[in-house]
Amino acid sequence: MNAMNALEVSDLSFAYGAREALRKVSFSLAPGRFAALLGPNGAGKSTLIALLTRLYDLQRGDIVVGQCSLRTTPRPALRQLGVVFQQSTLDLDLSVEQNLRYHAALHGLGRRQTALRVDAELARQGLTERRGERVRELNGGHRRRVEIARALLHEPRLLLLDEASAGLDPASRLALNQHIRSLCREQQISVLWTTHLLDEVQAGDDLLILHQGRLVASGQADALSLEHGGDLGSAFAHLTNPGASR
Ligand code: ADP
Repeated sequence: MNAMNALEVSDLSFAYGAREALRKVSFSLAPGRFAALLGPNGAGKSTLIALLTRLYDLQRGDIVVGQCSLRTTPRPALRQLGVVFQQSTLDLDLSVEQNLRYHAALHGLGRRQTALRVDAELARQGLTERRGERVRELNGGHRRRVEIARALLHEPRLLLLDEASAGLDPASRLALNQHIRSLCREQQISVLWTTHLLDEVQAGDDLLILHQGRLVASGQADALSLEHGGDLGSAFAHLTNPGASR
């Protein structure tokens, strides 16, 4: 295990009763890396996210965020995690700033630190001008940015985005994807981005492909494409084709 990794998932298995959803999944994510998690329906993506965010308790294996195990030290581990869920959890009737302050209070940030962090994140997400607007008045792309600002308030090492681009128009989807990549590059934040859209993956990304509960591929996207005939579409189709699974 590399102590510098932002995330280490080791031998993670999970079952709903007799139904196995994840089997011995292991991977790691280095600081500042963008990892795309792909998989067809039923692959186990939601289960993995539920375990990462501690919605479900671990059964087998471990998840280490930074250097903290979710099994043995869940609180410090969760403090290093920022999450943007597929369904928005913003309060539409509160202003942008009120949503952020509420979250800061939940994380136990002091008054002065809250003021500094809210200002910094609003600026970073290009939302300073909109801080007083009610979230209801914002478009989908800006609402996503508020959620990202909120997820980053407590300065996590790892940002987890679950189908964060779902429901956005193509231009906002692209803008969001690029924005998250710039956070990786400039702030050395590690990102785990789940999607079912191959066009959101770039050649230099870490790619994780889940299929029927197993991690069938992990590595740099361009290398995986090369191994499977040169393009990501055929790599994905080959790896998630029922005939190709073990
Ligand atoms: P994905 O998010 O990739 O579509 P899931 O993690 O939702 O995959 O599902 C993985 C497997 O676990 C599937 O076979 C699914 O039917 C099963 N599963 C998911 N949630 C439950 C549940 N609450 N009870 C029983 N089986 C479940």
